[in-house]
Amino acid sequence: MPTARRNSGARRSLQTPSPYPLPQGQRGNDGSSGRAVFIAQTMSLAALLGAALLPGLIGRDAAGAEEASQEKKMLNLTLRSRTETAKGSGAYQVVETRTQWDPKRTAAVICDMWDKHWCKGATSRVAEMAPRMNELVTELRNRGVLIIHAPSDTLKSYADHPGRKLAQSAPKVATKTPLQGWVGLTPAREAPLPIDDSDGGCGCAPTCAQGGPWRKQIETIQIKDGDAITDSAEAFYLMKQRGITNVIVMGVHLNMCVLGRPFSIRQMVLQGQNVVLVRDLTDTMYNPRMRPQVDHFAGTDLVVEHIEKYWCPSMTSDQLIGGMPFRFAADKRPPSKTDIAPK
Ligand SMILES: [Zn+2]
Repeated sequence: MPTARRNSGARRSLQTPSPYPLPQGQRGNDGSSGRAVFIAQTMSLAALLGAALLPGLIGRDAAGAEEASQEKKMLNLTLRSRTETAKGSGAYQVVETRTQWDPKRTAAVICDMWDKHWCKGATSRVAEMAPRMNELVTELRNRGVLIIHAPSDTLKSYADHPGRKLAQSAPKVATKTPLQGWVGLTPAREAPLPIDDSDGGCGCAPTCAQGGPWRKQIETIQIKDGDAITDSAEAFYLMKQRGITNVIVMGVHLNMCVLGRPFSIRQMVLQGQNVVLVRDLTDTMYNPRMRPQVDHFAGTDLVVEHIEKYWCPSMTSDQLIGGMPFRFAADKRPPSKTDIAPK
């Protein structure tokens, strides 16, 4: 085959895919100018390929970085529960299990952290606990957890708040187990509460007069963009809307609202959610003069144990924000071995 024809053929096949017209001077019929065209076109092809591939490579790196940052955001928790050593024995052992929850499938529910309670003791304990709770809530929000503020009976104060509108916008869903406005003691599932709160639970001297002075959530706990505000089963609708199956519960009072409210432990467990109680960020209405006549904080621990036996496991705030689990200044008991989760 003559050389000229081979060159011409090669030139054609190279020139055809180029989208860039070459200057007239570079168009030649001989072999040498053909080589110049070949080099020029190869370079422009390389540039094109580079332009096409580079974003892909950067994209891959970005995806890798995104994956690493998602991994850092995962919630690594040590869940404490109590299981019966033998069925019907009434003897329980502490069981701790490690788990990892996806923040995007997790909500944090803040129960009744009001500005003011009828009991002065209860009001001051909420104020003492609130800064640590706000730290935990901030961390959870930063990791992508949906924050649900649930200051019951005070929603009038939030009527025009975007967080209120967000909760109201969640579409209702049908449930197998009917949603209830309050889920009381459930004998089919749990023993009677280990503390007697029939007097209202005020341990102050003199005893505080009962009432309903709460108007809003305590200001210490910040409400940010993207947070929701509700005091009803709207909380469950919000979770369903977002594919949320994990619920972290904190707030007061453990023997009353934290168990019974429509957004809280009993209802969420009965709806099949994975629920965990933050046991160092809660309190009870319990008067030590009542059965079983133990210290106030020992009374709270008894209710935590009750929940760990019959409803859901518990965790402590240090698992996510470091430091030590929260303790009230008035709690003078020595720290329990099981208070601090193994790292
Ligand atoms: Zn009181």
